[in-house]
Amino acid sequence: MRHTSRSIRRTPKVTPELARHRATRAEYLHALAKLQGTAPEPPPEPVVSASERCHCGAPWLLSGGRKICGWGLHDG
Ligand SMILES: [Zn+2]
Repeated sequence: MRHTSRSIRRTPKVTPELARHRATRAEYLHALAKLQGTAPEPPPEPVVSASERCHCGAPWLLSGGRKICGWGLHDG
């Protein structure tokens, strides 16, 4: 018996904002684990020079090795 679940898929759309929120939360949980000394491995933090800034003027925020807007206003 085959079930076609494709028609009833109700996957919520993952917006860039939501993706960033998840990344931020993962980062937070990792920082928390690090504080508690339960982090599996400290990820190497890429060094971003202070002169490097987002086009909107916000300092870069490193999340998962990627640079995101420090003010979290947008992507890129
Ligand atoms: Zn920005």
